[in-house]
Amino acid sequence: MPEGHTIHRLAQDYASRFAGRVTQVTSPQGKFSDAAALLDGTVLRTTDAHGKHLFLGFGNADWVHIHLGLFGKVAFGPAPAPPPTDTVRLRLANATSYVDLRGPTTCALVTGPEKDAIHARLGPDPLRDDADPGAAYRRISRSRTTIAALLMDQKVIAGVGNVYRAEVLFRHRIDPYRSGKDITPAEWDAVWHDLVALMREGVRNNRIDTVRPEHTPEAMGRPPRVDDHGGEVYVYRRAMRPCHICGGEIRTADLAARNLFWCPTCQRA
Ligand SMILES: [Zn+2]
Repeated sequence: MPEGHTIHRLAQDYASRFAGRVTQVTSPQGKFSDAAALLDGTVLRTTDAHGKHLFLGFGNADWVHIHLGLFGKVAFGPAPAPPPTDTVRLRLANATSYVDLRGPTTCALVTGPEKDAIHARLGPDPLRDDADPGAAYRRISRSRTTIAALLMDQKVIAGVGNVYRAEVLFRHRIDPYRSGKDITPAEWDAVWHDLVALMREGVRNNRIDTVRPEHTPEAMGRPPRVDDHGGEVYVYRRAMRPCHICGGEIRTADLAARNLFWCPTCQRA
């Protein structure tokens, strides 16, 4: 499942190639054909992202709401577009570029008020300028649920996935099993601002790096991480490997239906 930085990066990439221009809109797969016919030949006005939800704004009012889910994929390419395969749910094309969306959980035409309702049920997104971290803290500070589960709850905070939750808790030495109500305002403030910085860097680089300058492979004289997720991290998918700070073994356990990773020495209750 992509994390929020991927969706914000997609919003930028859709906008840079298509916004302000008349766009051909098709659904080679057929599942989005009626909506595509309505949008075809109109101008992509703008794009928006909130957590793991992507919105493409066409004309004056219509939005395409996209959620990639576990299997959704987006692929950009230069014009001319090749003949589409029948797995393409949504293709946008113009004189210079095309982009294909395959396998999303959601690809639906929604009105402005319907889009507003989607925003309303999501927590604040560290990558949005309008985000209110206090709204997340009000829910966290009243909850007995673990902070590791709360960080994955999109109603509490939107866009944080399995990598950022593990890494930000490590960076702030917070035991992932502490309950939300035990997180202090100062801890939340630090976690939030760190997520803003880390996730912005994720959008820029299109990958997740979370180690501080003193813990890079160069600084530590260690080999770079080899992992198909890329990026230098402290704990994510490093179970049974030595912690970069204390040398102890990184642990893993199931939490909120996903694998949690943490260092029991560095992250104390
Ligand atoms: Zn450690």
